[in-house]
Amino acid sequence: MEAVKATAEGAKAINATQVKAFGTEAAEAPLQELNINRRNPKPHDVAIEILYCGVCHSDLHTARNEWHSTIYPCVPGHEIVGKVVSVGNHVSKFKVGDLAAVGCMVDSCRECQYCKEGLEQYCEEGNTGTYNSPDKHLGTQTHGGYSESIVVDEAFVLRVPENLDLAATAPLLCAGITTYSPLKHWHVGPGQKVGVVGLGGLGHMAVKIAKAMGADVIVFTTSPSKVEDAKRLGADDVVLSKDEEQMRRYAGKLHFVLDAVSAQHDINAYLNLLRVDGSLALVGAPEQPLPVAAFSLIPYRRSFAGSMIGGIAETQEMLDFCGKHNIVSDIEMINIQQINEAYERLLKGDVKYRFVIDMASLKNEDTKQA
Ligand code: NAP
Ligand code: ZN
Ligand code: ZN
Repeated sequence: MEAVKATAEGAKAINATQVKAFGTEAAEAPLQELNINRRNPKPHDVAIEILYCGVCHSDLHTARNEWHSTIYPCVPGHEIVGKVVSVGNHVSKFKVGDLAAVGCMVDSCRECQYCKEGLEQYCEEGNTGTYNSPDKHLGTQTHGGYSESIVVDEAFVLRVPENLDLAATAPLLCAGITTYSPLKHWHVGPGQKVGVVGLGGLGHMAVKIAKAMGADVIVFTTSPSKVEDAKRLGADDVVLSKDEEQMRRYAGKLHFVLDAVSAQHDINAYLNLLRVDGSLALVGAPEQPLPVAAFSLIPYRRSFAGSMIGGIAETQEMLDFCGKHNIVSDIEMINIQQINEAYERLLKGDVKYRFVIDMASLKNEDTKQA
């Protein structure tokens, strides 16, 4: 399908509506206000007014084309919570006025073996990411949550537990599920020692969730300023990863390690912490390859794995788990006009522990840098 420019007339011609968003036209350009099209709701669609959107490090990797796959204009954001403003006539799960959430995916083929197993993130045809994926309806790329509203098939819309703070719930949609899914897959629970590497958005959710699953949690951080916080978040112990003496304390001791580091680091130092049959799952996605030494894996029959977000049913399960255990993210609220500054702080590890954008700020007249 031909991509149609986001003008009011163009939108009308393809049965879409033009809305305000924040995004970028190039890897080196700052994010700024721009217009995008949202399709008018089809029979199975839910239209959501976005109230809050979390800021994931993947947003930054994508906006700056660090994974070499970005098509511009790019509107990031896949930790979306908001209010339902209209529904198609076949929608059964949501009604106008309900709270609703959207995570990292807005569609998949729904027919392959993985989709049928609830593993839509590993769809054989490739899942449709909330941003930077081919949009099956509009012919452009999909555009994410740094925008006024979004239209999503109800099969990919999640319910939000009512007892949780809404803004602090937004990061669960990526940081929450990306850590919950591997912790569950590798059967983390009581009697196990679990390492969490990198206390950022994902890492701090991993600490809370692994504790709620009953494990002993040890945080590995490069930031001395995060030691006390890690304990407050529930860690049983905290190791400054640059201190070899402290690292040696856990050599060969951990059942499972979740690595959520966004930049280059020595993965071998963490593989060496695993006991016999232990696994390290990488969720952090640095731009460059991470060299792995054979003798980090061979002794102790260690496994080195990866994991990507989680399926839709599992995302709902995670939200319900967080509702039951009263788990939300520790957030710093920003206006959309502060997003470029927030990205710079993210690069310095200077966020405790997730930026969440108050999307009401997009409605402000003045969208200059705050
Ligand atoms: P984040 O909030 O920026 O946290 C990353 C943390 O990594 C930092 O807080 C810091 O923790 C540590 N770190 C950063 N630079 C480092 C360096 N040079 N050496 C060692 N440690 C460093 O990022 P996030 O949003 O949690 O995302 C983390 C990574 O996961 C990103 O690469 C993101 O793209 C990826 N991701 C993957 C998936 C998936 O499905 N697999 C989903 C979402 C995100 P300390 O200060 O504690 O050292
Ligand atoms: Zn993310
Ligand atoms: Zn599929």
